[in-house]
Amino acid sequence: MVRYNKEFASPRPMMDVDTKPFWDYLKEKKDLYFQRCANCHSYMHPPRPICNQCKSFDMEWVPSSGKGTIYSYVVYHRPVHPGFEVPYEVVLVEMEEGVRIVSNMVDCEPEDIYIGMPVELVIDEVADDLVLPKFKRRNT
Ligand SMILES: [Zn+2]
Repeated sequence: MVRYNKEFASPRPMMDVDTKPFWDYLKEKKDLYFQRCANCHSYMHPPRPICNQCKSFDMEWVPSSGKGTIYSYVVYHRPVHPGFEVPYEVVLVEMEEGVRIVSNMVDCEPEDIYIGMPVELVIDEVADDLVLPKFKRRNT
């Protein structure tokens, strides 16, 4: 579980023309949306301008089920930014849609996390201008 050191501003995700819709859906709809190819229906994340399966430029945004499992994780014992208090984990969640997303847990300590752990989406309103997708344990 990430705890923020309030003495420092936490780092912000980088946004560009391809990733801005992802962040806008989180902020405005309070939900996780993934990019999907309108031609072959392959899901993609991180967002990109072209389908990596069929090379189509025709993309659409669809809501995620919010469910996934921990594919991998790491525990930081030294902060990469002073805005984070250690230790904290960074998880790689494999979503039901098949894409993987980097995130943090909200309800457990690093020692409680394991590969294959079922998780579900939590919308974390970190600041007025920043909403992040995070995860909590899911009962199966
Ligand atoms: Zn495609």
